[in-house]
Parts: sequence; C-alpha cells; structure tokens
Amino acid sequence: MIDGKTRLLGLLGQPVEHSLSPAMHNAALIDMGLNWSYLPLHCSSGDLENVLNALRGLNFIGLNVTIPHKQSVAKMCAELTPLAQKIGAVNTLLPNDQEGWIGTNTDVEGFVSPLKKNSQNWEGLNAVIIGCGGSAKAVVAGLEELRFAKISIVSRNPDSLKRFLNDVQLNTSKTERGEPITKIAGFFQEDRSLSNQLKKADLIVNATPVGMTTKSNEISKQNDIPLGPNIWDEVSPQTTLYDLIYTPNPSPWLAWGAKRGFHCINGLEMLVQQGASSLRLWSGTRDVPVNKMREAAQSSLNN
Ligand code: NAP
Repeated sequence: MIDGKTRLLGLLGQPVEHSLSPAMHNAALIDMGLNWSYLPLHCSSGDLENVLNALRGLNFIGLNVTIPHKQSVAKMCAELTPLAQKIGAVNTLLPNDQEGWIGTNTDVEGFVSPLKKNSQNWEGLNAVIIGCGGSAKAVVAGLEELRFAKISIVSRNPDSLKRFLNDVQLNTSKTERGEPITKIAGFFQEDRSLSNQLKKADLIVNATPVGMTTKSNEISKQNDIPLGPNIWDEVSPQTTLYDLIYTPNPSPWLAWGAKRGFHCINGLEMLVQQGASSLRLWSGTRDVPVNKMREAAQSSLNN
C-alpha cells in the first residue's frame, strides 16, 4: 500500500515494459517489510539527464539503469565506483551527499555468481565471449575477477571489436610486473582459427541477443544459435556454455548443448543476482530474500 511515507526506487530504460525487475524487487521489498516501491520508468536518451536530476530532486533512494542508458548514465554521475569506472557502464545508482548520483555496476557480481557455485576454480582457464557490446564488458571484468588466463572475444564487426579491445586492454588488471593477469584477444566471426579457440575453451559465453525472444515478439528474433549451428560439433561437452539470454528458457543454443551433455547456465540467475546486489546497496543489509526474487522473476517470465 503506497502512502505518504513510501520511498521510491525505479528502473530507467527504454523499453522497460517487459522488465522482470519490478516484480522481482517489489516481491523482495514486501518480504523485507519495507515501505518502498520499485517502478518501471520509461525514459528516452534525450530526456535522460533531466530525468536523473528530477528523480534525485524527488528523493528517490536508488535506481537501476538498463538498455540503452548504461554507458550514458556513467557520464552523468557525480561519482563512480572503481568498477563502474573500469567498465564504463552503470546499472545501479545511489544518491550521494549532495545532489547527484553515485554510479556502480552489479552486473559483474550477477554474472560471476553462478560460476562461483560449488567453489569451482576457474583460475588459469580459457574463455570465449561471443559479442562485444555493453554486457560483454561486465563479462570480461567478471572473468578477470575469476582469474581466467585467456579471454577470446568474437565479433561480427571488426570496428566494434577494435574499440572494445582498446577499452578493455587499457583497463585490464595487471601483475606487479605490469603484465595482464588475463590475456585478452579478439577474433572476427569469420576467422578460420575461431573453431580452434572454441575447442580450447573451458567456458563460452553468449553476450549477443542471438536466439532471444521478447514478449512483444513471441517468434524467435533470430531462431538460431550463435555463430551458426555447424561450428559447435567439435567442441567438447566438458565446456561450460553460458547464455546471458533467459528468454526463451532454454535458448536454442543451450537446448542444443543440454542435449549433448554440456553444462549449461542461462541468464536468469545473473538477472536475479545483479538485482539482489543492487538491493543490498540500497537497503544497507546483506540479508535480502534472493529466493523470493528468483521465484518472482520466474513467475513473471512464465506469465
Ligand atoms: P549490446 O550492447 O547491443 O551488444 C550486443 C552485441 O551482440 C554486439 O556486439 C553486437 O554486435 C552483437 N550482435 C547482435 N546481433 C548479432 C548477430 N545477429 N550476430 C552476431 N553478433 C550480434 O547488448 P548487451 O547489452 O551487451 O546485451 C547482449 C545480450 O545479453 C542481450 O540478449 C541481453 O538481453 C543479454 N543480457 C542479459 C543480462 C542478464 O542479466 N541475464 C544482462 C545484460 C544483458 P554489433 O556491434 O555488430 O551490433
């Protein structure tokens, strides 16, 4: 029940209509007994700065940021955490002591969470990331945190790949001797050596929308698997396949992998864990009802 004392949180994006975050966060807020409410806030790029200032003026206690604003908002924050600075993208805002916002990024924590299950040790292993957009930057930061030895980034677009590599190589963590802890290389999608990189990978992450459906378009957007169906036959089923997509569940790629005995991870847990991490920051408590958030996200997906 909203009353005069209700405090507000929200998700800024375009579109936000089909986001699972309001259902997930409001379920958690009720469970925590907080008189707070989490709203979807549709905002165009042209209005972004005014909206951010207005929401700060309205005393919002926190915001999430989604497509397509994560990078633009990073440039509008009064302060950035070192992680948000490194990635150049913000998905969570907290008010600072003056009139601005502190930007941080919980996508990295969300992404690594299922990889840390069962205390699996990824140190020294090889990963491939398909796609070099906004979320791929959080994926690189997560894989660096897990101390992968090598990350190969695959892109269909040589220009975006070059820009992406420049950014991530500049910000990569270094040893005391100035060497990168994780080596990062780029591959064009048509590159002949790509199939070798896939064969050597311990983990392959799809950070493209290939295979995704949306509620506004029930037919698969690209009823396909990343890099096409033929390249996967020689990849060992010992490899873990991680698709950031959570709709459909499973994605065509993970459905293919599961049939052949690959260990598969979909993007729902990343979504839930990044949300839980944002809520910990806003509420100042570690104890947030992650199971309730997962149930609410899952049931909102099913409806
Ligand atoms: P983005 O910034 O638009 O980047 C998408 C990347 O995929 C770009 O590198 C793009 O290449 C590439 N791409 C797009 N269509 C392609 C195709 N048909 N073939 C090959 N490459 C293609 O998007 P994003 O924010 O990184 O999101 C990527 C995916 O991750 C989306 O499906 C999103 O829903 C999902 N995601 C999930 C979570 C979660 O919590 N589970 C969080 C964030 C994102 P170009 O540069 O050539 O366009």
